[in-house]
Amino acid sequence: MVLTMETGTMDIGIGRIVKCTNCNNTGREVVKQEFFNQDAFYIIPLNRQTGKVFVVCHICHWGIKLNPKIDSAKIEAIIWDGREQTKAFLNRISSSQRNRILKSYRKMGLNKLVNFMSQ
Ligand SMILES: [Zn+2]
Repeated sequence: MVLTMETGTMDIGIGRIVKCTNCNNTGREVVKQEFFNQDAFYIIPLNRQTGKVFVVCHICHWGIKLNPKIDSAKIEAIIWDGREQTKAFLNRISSSQRNRILKSYRKMGLNKLVNFMSQ
C-alpha cells in the first residue's frame, strides 16, 4: 500500500468588500481553505480533510487565518456578505468541486449558506 499526501488550498467562497491594508486595493475578499488529500497509489482518493480557513485580499493574498472549529459563525458571516458572488462562483465550477465546497460548509456547520447555495 503506497500512501501519498497532497495538500493545498481551495477557494470556498467570496467575502466582504474591504480595502486591503497591505496593497490598498478595494475589492471582495477571497475565502480559502486548506485541504489534505490522502491517496492510495495516486489513483483512489481515500479522503479529503479540510483545515484552517484564510480570508485574503484577491490581489495580494494578504489576510487572516480562521479556525473553523472556533470561528465558524465569523466565516459564515463573511461568505454571507458575498453570497451572491459565491453562488455565481459555485455555478461556474464543476459539480465535484461544488460538492467538495458544500461538504466543507456542512462540516463547519454553515447551514444557512448550504441552504442558500442549494436553492
Ligand atoms: Zn491586498
